[in-house]
Parts: sequence; structure tokens; C-alpha cells
Amino acid sequence: LGLASRVDSLQRQSFTDPLTSLANRRFFDEKLLALFERAGGQGQALALLMIDIDHFKNFNDRFGHAWGDEALKMVGAVLQDNARPQDHVCRYGGEEFAVIMPGADRATAADIAAHLRVSVSDADMRGERLSVSIGVVSMQDDRFTTAAAFFDAADRALYQAKSDGRNCVVGFSPTLAKRYGRRATDLLPVRS
Ligand code: GH3
Ligand code: MG
Ligand code: MG
Repeated sequence: LGLASRVDSLQRQSFTDPLTSLANRRFFDEKLLALFERAGGQGQALALLMIDIDHFKNFNDRFGHAWGDEALKMVGAVLQDNARPQDHVCRYGGEEFAVIMPGADRATAADIAAHLRVSVSDADMRGERLSVSIGVVSMQDDRFTTAAAFFDAADRALYQAKSDGRNCVVGFSPTLAKRYGRRATDLLPVRS
């Protein structure tokens, strides 16, 4: 192999999660920053989904870590297969995934999130089932000044999806940010 293609292959490896073969956290951090700045500068749409497998510790406890690893791969593949070609499906870490969606407005992001949730809950994992909770944020939802604030909004929405009972999609809204951690029962999240 020539030097250039070896460098190429190392570079690709450094942005890939070895278990799922999805893009890794490092790729995610760089891509989100770049796309956030581009979207902000050019007034383009951008959306982000944060996705966490529900009760995955139970799954590991019941079936073992090796089978848990297989299930993580399957969930990753379901997300990849059901996202749009231009979306960046990443393994954020552990049993958490993130999808960066260039050009997606709030409605598109919510639609795809709903589709991903159903696709995972319908997937047969050797006779077992898993579900995911999803937090959604789009550039339309608020005036986000940094990529970190944008990420935090998706994470808050995900946290709300967990406390709403899991296996659901919650969209971020500024109201959610205000009420987060205080009066969760007042929230009217975007659900599916
Ligand atoms: P919740 O619905 O609140 O998200 O519950 P949970 O059990 O999914 O969340 P918790 O954070 O308690 O547990 C996450 C589990 O994910 C614990 C850990 O063993 C498992 N996990 C994380 N990374 C891996 C991995 O690479 N392989 C396997 N097999 N399990 C993993
Ligand atoms: Mg988690
Ligand atoms: Mg979890």
C-alpha cells in the first residue's frame, strides 16, 4: 500500500467506532461544530437527534455483554438504514447515538425521529425487542449561539423523553429549557 492510502485508512479508522462501524464521537464533535457554523452563517436548516437505548443495562444483565454488543450493532444498523443518505449517524458513546441532519427543518427532523423510533421498536433482535428515547432539536427552535448549546438542547429533550416514559420522541422548545428540572408535568412535548 502507498503512503497516501495508508494515511487515508488511518484517518478513516480514527473517525470510526470499531463495534458498530458507525462514525464515532470524535467525528460527531467535529462534524457538528462545522455544520452548526455553516448553517448559522448561511441561514440553513440543521437538526440533531440524540438517541439512547431504553433500559439497556437490564438487557446486558439478562443476556450478557457479548449479546449486548450484538444488539448495539443491530440498533446502529437500523438507525443507519432508516436515516436519510445525507444524515450523519454516529455512536456518541455507550448505548447512545446521535444523528446530525443537514438541511432538516423541525418537521422533517420530527418525522425522521418518529420513523427511527418505530424502526427500532419493530426490529427483531433474535426474538427480543429494544426501544429508544429520542430528543430532537432544530435551528428553528431557538437562537442557539454555540454548537454546545445546540447539543445541550437535544440532550435536554432526550432527558425529557426518558422521564415521559421512554420509547418516545420529544422535541426541544425554549419552554422546555425554562422548565427543565422544575415542573415537567407542565410540558407539552412533541411526541410520537
Ligand atoms: P435508560 O432507559 O435510563 O437509558 O436505562 P439504561 O439501562 O439504558 O441506562 P444506564 O445508563 O443505566 O445503562 C447503560 C448500559 O449500557 C450500561 C452499560 O453496561 C451498557 N453499555 C454501554 N456501552 C456498552 C457496550 O459497548 N456494550 C455493551 N454490551 N453494553 C454497553
Ligand atoms: Mg445512556
Ligand atoms: Mg439507556
